[in-house]
Amino acid sequence: MALVMIVEDEEALALLLKYNLEKEGYEVVWESSGNKALACIEKYCPSVILLDWMLPELSGVEICKMIRNKPDIKDIPVIMLTAKSEEEDKIKGLSAGADDYVTKPFSVPELLARIKTNLRRAPEIITQKELVFEDIHMDLVEKKVFRGNKYIHLGPTEFRLLKMLMETPGKVFSREYLLKNVWGNNIYVESRTVDVHIRRLRRSLNESGPDYIRTVRATGYAIDKNNHFEDNKE
Ligand code: CA
Repeated sequence: MALVMIVEDEEALALLLKYNLEKEGYEVVWESSGNKALACIEKYCPSVILLDWMLPELSGVEICKMIRNKPDIKDIPVIMLTAKSEEEDKIKGLSAGADDYVTKPFSVPELLARIKTNLRRAPEIITQKELVFEDIHMDLVEKKVFRGNKYIHLGPTEFRLLKMLMETPGKVFSREYLLKNVWGNNIYVESRTVDVHIRRLRRSLNESGPDYIRTVRATGYAIDKNNHFEDNKE
């Protein structure tokens, strides 16, 4: 069942939402602090986030922008809850990356309908618990990788790289695309950095099987079943 995260400092409202969402069969996590929201979202990776605009430390708009810059969580639908009803505020919320906008006071059925709509819009990958490519198995909940039965230890960047490749096997990802989507928009790293992390990823993965990571000269990388790749010979 879908996990809904509520980021809201008004306890009465949060509890009312929690009660009603649980009654509908959702799992619910509530976080009242704006400062802790991001860590909490990364930990639980919810299916949808109800994000209050007015929070004591960080505003909902700031949190939303941060979510959109974190590759692991950037695709999670965000519904802003707000007392602000001005058109300009609405635009500000949506341009910060919110998917939807609900003005307080709202009715519970209205919010439930919005949640359903946004869950439908969400990419499949969010509810997916694992990725499998040949003998490589990626547990997206526990964030662990296995090859056959052997546990493969990967650093967080290698994990995200492999996840991106495994989401669309055969597709060649450019270094620029990988940089933007694995490292995020706001970080400056050279495109050679991708090569360094691919090398580490290969080293860890290939101890227990053939090299499925394909180098495409002057372009980028893919994960592919045919493991005789001309360009892999560097
Ligand atoms: Ca509030």
